[in-house]
Amino acid sequence: LQERLGSIFEGLTKRGALSEKDVSEAMREVRRALLEADVALPVARDFIKKVTERAVGQEVLRSVTPGQQVIKIVHDEMVAMLAGGGEEGAPAPSSDDAADDAAGIDLAAVAPVPVMMVGLQGSGKTTSTAKVAIRLRDKAKRKVLMASLDVRRPAAQEQLKVLGEQAGIDTLPIVAGQDPVAIARRAMEAGRLGGYDVVMLDTAGRLAVDEALMAEMAEIKSAANPHEILLVADSLTGQDAVNTADLFNKRVGLTGIVLTRADGDGRGGAALSMRAVTGKPIKLLGTGEKLDEMEVFRAERVAGRILGMGDVVSLVEKAAETLDAEQAEKMAAKMKKGQFDLDDLAEQLKQMAKMGGMSGVMSLMPGMGKAKKQLDAAGMDDGVLKRQAAIISSMTKTERRNPKLLNASRKKRIAAGSGTQVQEVNRVLKMHRQMADVFKMMGKKGGRKGMAALMN
Ligand code: GDP
Ligand code: MG
Repeated sequence: LQERLGSIFEGLTKRGALSEKDVSEAMREVRRALLEADVALPVARDFIKKVTERAVGQEVLRSVTPGQQVIKIVHDEMVAMLAGGGEEGAPAPSSDDAADDAAGIDLAAVAPVPVMMVGLQGSGKTTSTAKVAIRLRDKAKRKVLMASLDVRRPAAQEQLKVLGEQAGIDTLPIVAGQDPVAIARRAMEAGRLGGYDVVMLDTAGRLAVDEALMAEMAEIKSAANPHEILLVADSLTGQDAVNTADLFNKRVGLTGIVLTRADGDGRGGAALSMRAVTGKPIKLLGTGEKLDEMEVFRAERVAGRILGMGDVVSLVEKAAETLDAEQAEKMAAKMKKGQFDLDDLAEQLKQMAKMGGMSGVMSLMPGMGKAKKQLDAAGMDDGVLKRQAAIISSMTKTERRNPKLLNASRKKRIAAGSGTQVQEVNRVLKMHRQMADVFKMMGKKGGRKGMAALMN
């Protein structure tokens, strides 16, 4: 997506506010990316509308391209939608450690807190029940009892018992011939008597949502009065998972969603659709068959996956934080005229240091990993930036304006003054000459070619 957006904005060197035309062209690409990521059409449409409203008229930061700026807006809106209430400006849920420990599961109720897992057959309910139980025990330090209410599938209760034995989590003893509601009551009773903090209720599924399943879930719900009802949904089933979530939510009422098989889903679109359609948070991601393969849902990570971009977003964020717009504007005017003296270079070095140095900047740019390694190997670390700045500040004002004055004896003086070697002074001067040339070119031919020259 980022490449496509980049090409849309190629040649667009003008700065200022994003126009409606800029944005609507970019949104065509965003829309395609969303649909490719398996985001439901109405959700994609709604999303595009919100982003367009936010983007049109927004000032482009001096240090980023309009394409990068649009990506940032798209990304922020997506994170807000995945994390918040889906409403504009809704605050993202806090991600403090305590909340992380319980994996976003609300345990603020009288113990034993009933947590009910619902979903279609094969979605990963039983596995996820055990995974969540382990998390609650290990991270939130809760005593957990698990019970299988699945009397439909042969050996379903056995399956949970085996997982419990593997993980060292207690399971409710199996009693033949009981119906799910009776098992739920017995589980809650055992939870009370055994001093458990949490009782996890694993339920039966069907191949598709039907009335019998919904009726059974509703009965269990009224018997156990669960504090959390988590839908377990297979992210690989895409649009079906979204419909399932909608039906379960309307009929049984959900408090959250666990998305399984995130390990096989490179697209992540189901998460956005489910969030938008149900309004319920995605709390956890299943990332494999093993019992420790579960992660707390992170909106930023999934947004990145849906948009298929590198870390342009954090680059833009850093640029916004550190670059003083006025300073950048002056620089841009100088570049146009082909003026770039050593004071300007010093300013550039300062900005670069603020952004974490050359390697910091590079590691944020997609596809620059290799270049970064070379830089590190060449010793272009932050210490170098500091020494280069020291060299420039050891020059006189006149020297900085006119580097041609720097003969051998002046260079020696500067090296001594900055505690460096003449070689290093020469390197700074060479870098300055190269950059001045590039900026001259950028001023004449526009940014792209200038950048290309810089890379060669
Ligand atoms: P249930 O019918 O909903 O209880 O589903 P199960 O918990 O029995 O899981 C069905 C299959 O999916 C099992 O083979 C699990 O190992 C597998 N499974 C569950 N969660 C995940 C996951 O997050 N990733 C992967 N790759 N497989 C999973
Ligand atoms: Mg099961």
